[in-house]
Amino acid sequence: MPAAAPSSPRPRIPIAPVLSAASLRRARGPGLPSVLEAGAARCVTSGRVAIALALREMDVKPGERVLVPAWHSPSMIPPVLWRGAEPLFYRVGPDGSADLADIAAKAGQARVLMATHYFGFPQDLAPLRALCDTHGLQLLEDCAHAYIGSYQGRPLGSFGDYAIASTMKFLPAYEGGLLVSARHRLDAVALRPAGAAFEAKIALNSLERGFDYGRLAPLRILLRPLLALKDALRKPRPHDGAGAPAAALAPSSSDSSFELDPAWIDKRSSLFARLLLRLSSTTRIATLRRAHYLRLDAALRGLPGIRPLHAALPDGVCPWAYPLLVDDPDGLAGRLGAAGVPVLRFGRPLWQGVDAATCANAAYLSRHVLALPCHQELRPRELDWLIEATRTAVQA
Ligand SMILES: *Cc1c(COP(=O)(O)O)cnc(C)c1O
Repeated sequence: MPAAAPSSPRPRIPIAPVLSAASLRRARGPGLPSVLEAGAARCVTSGRVAIALALREMDVKPGERVLVPAWHSPSMIPPVLWRGAEPLFYRVGPDGSADLADIAAKAGQARVLMATHYFGFPQDLAPLRALCDTHGLQLLEDCAHAYIGSYQGRPLGSFGDYAIASTMKFLPAYEGGLLVSARHRLDAVALRPAGAAFEAKIALNSLERGFDYGRLAPLRILLRPLLALKDALRKPRPHDGAGAPAAALAPSSSDSSFELDPAWIDKRSSLFARLLLRLSSTTRIATLRRAHYLRLDAALRGLPGIRPLHAALPDGVCPWAYPLLVDDPDGLAGRLGAAGVPVLRFGRPLWQGVDAATCANAAYLSRHVLALPCHQELRPRELDWLIEATRTAVQA
């Protein structure tokens, strides 16, 4: 991870889920499905690897085109290039909804359509699926922000020919992606274990991140010798300087870079991340995320200079974060950062060459959307603090 710039100290509260004793707790309440319930699944090391594998399963060939939303994570593009294919960007509406007319106009040039459920809010899948069927496009549902959720009573991820998700956006694991298909068996996707050093690193990182934010205190004392050993191993040895860089022990993830390292494409996700996927309660995650989202919305809606991206939180949505449209995004992001409030800026930057001429809405959303965490591991006092600090920064 890059060193934090002095203007952005480490956030006082975690931007993404961190492991705590509560992480494996059950919850009562109406359950929502995860993408794992959408069909056959494979656990890989990142969402972008899952995109690459989906494109390979769809036999996307060099020179072909893949329709990608003009508002995107730059990590969605390297998998397309890895196949030798080209992204063809389609427009989105002011709230990120896929522009069906623009897709229809471009459909003849492409074989695959990627559709993203931004912040967990589903695209209107019925007309999107119908459009794909009419034009012979395969649909790849990007559930990176929508590991949990349903649309018209069915799990997100079950409408596409394939779907992908990003484990670390929803669970306290620092690698992980899912390739899912409701329509195809994934028997041909053969994965290899990534090795003992990788397994150890992922588990220890997750524990350490929990310790950093004051979770799991009793375990910390027990594990102190192990973490000291890990730190000692991490220190570069003096003669290492000039040689080739050692092979990375873990894939790049969205918090470090947007690249795709082909070495990770056929690797299985860590045992740690796969256990978390099995043992975490989707009911707990969805119930807490929805409650946190609604508290943020009640406290911030109506303040000057900001407005929520979405008018309401529909049933069936498990939000990734709480997105706001902000008049002065850089000013507010600076004040929030200085106060230690973690802020997500999705789709910033966009892929090189994508600008207002490609899609004015995407350019606007990329610049003006700031999102606050609403994940399940925020504690009540942390959420109170987040709200107060945000209100202060907004009204400054
Ligand atoms: C993060 C993200 C991805 C890629 O997921 P990683 O696990 O970071 O590789 C894909 N699509 C969207 C919309 C994302 O935000």
